[in-house]
Amino acid sequence: MKVALFGTKPYDEQFFTEANENYNHELLFLEPHLSEKTAILAQDATAVCVFVNDEVSGDTLKILAEQGVKLIALRCAGYNNVDLETAKELGIKIVRVPAYSPHAVAEHAIALILTLNRKIHRAFYRVREGNFALNGLLGFDLYGRTVGIIGTGNIGYITGQILSGFGCKVLAYDPYPNESFSNFGEYVSLDELYARSDIISLHCPLTEENRHLINETSITKMKPGVMLINTSRGGLIDTKAVITGLKSKTIGYLALDVYEKESDLFFEDLSNEVIEDDVFQRLLTFPNVIITGHQAFFTEEALTNIANTTLSNITEIETTNTCKNLVQ
Ligand code: NAD
Repeated sequence: MKVALFGTKPYDEQFFTEANENYNHELLFLEPHLSEKTAILAQDATAVCVFVNDEVSGDTLKILAEQGVKLIALRCAGYNNVDLETAKELGIKIVRVPAYSPHAVAEHAIALILTLNRKIHRAFYRVREGNFALNGLLGFDLYGRTVGIIGTGNIGYITGQILSGFGCKVLAYDPYPNESFSNFGEYVSLDELYARSDIISLHCPLTEENRHLINETSITKMKPGVMLINTSRGGLIDTKAVITGLKSKTIGYLALDVYEKESDLFFEDLSNEVIEDDVFQRLLTFPNVIITGHQAFFTEEALTNIANTTLSNITEIETTNTCKNLVQ
């Protein structure tokens, strides 16, 4: 099948080209993100491959359908950026990569927790400048602390398992509990999780129902000084409410790998540009905030799995007209 891959970087081209030796699709690598304006670049491709920040809106889908596109292959797990209803009306199938390396994301969440707690981000620069003072670098033992995991699917499960290994008490909230999670963790209500957790880590998908799950009201239910980690989707957090929480010290630490307005920023080198997002810039002024640019998935294993599963999904649709990774 001819596949137009939007929003590609050199690493996408490398991993997809290597994986395609086993699939032989015709791959067209495009740098621009998919949007109404760029959809025309898909030319005569039958499938379009997109990532988290491509805009797969109804209008974009209509333009693609007119060009003969029959399949959107997401090279990611989440599909909150796709207008599923319009896709269905147009007869365009959507496939995704449900799990490519839950370990990659879980391990990044742990890296953020450890960095924030032991202030590695600050120690790194201090030592380079010959400042070996410890003032301001005080951390706490993870052992014995209570961690709340929101969403115990592939990633949340592993994050809970790792933290249990550190000797943390692991609480969780998920509307669809996973029985084996109870081997090391305890399901509680969301309010109880907020009230008891020293660290809260988000691992649920973004839906219309849980947009701004972390807001002014939920923050007031949390332990003063709580550590909040989001490696899931930016829209789960009301950023302005979190800034107020940081200023009042209700939130003691914040780490984000995702941000609600990230599509204007992430994955690009903007080091010579003026960043106009004042909310994002305010976040960067706090010593107890770390932001990474949606890199939690970014391991060799994950990129290999993403490329293989995406190309295999396309082959499955081409040969059987259905796919186990179809988004319904
Ligand atoms: P998953 O589908 O395996 O698990 C999601 C879990 O969340 C499910 O158990 C579901 O029941 C639960 N859930 C749904 N709504 C909920 C709610 N309102 N409150 C609590 N739990 C809820 O997904 P996963 O593979 O574990 O991925 C989790 C999320 O991580 C994805 O949705 C995606 O947004 C994000 N992600 C981020 C990166 C990254 O690089 N930062 C990479 C991959 C995935």
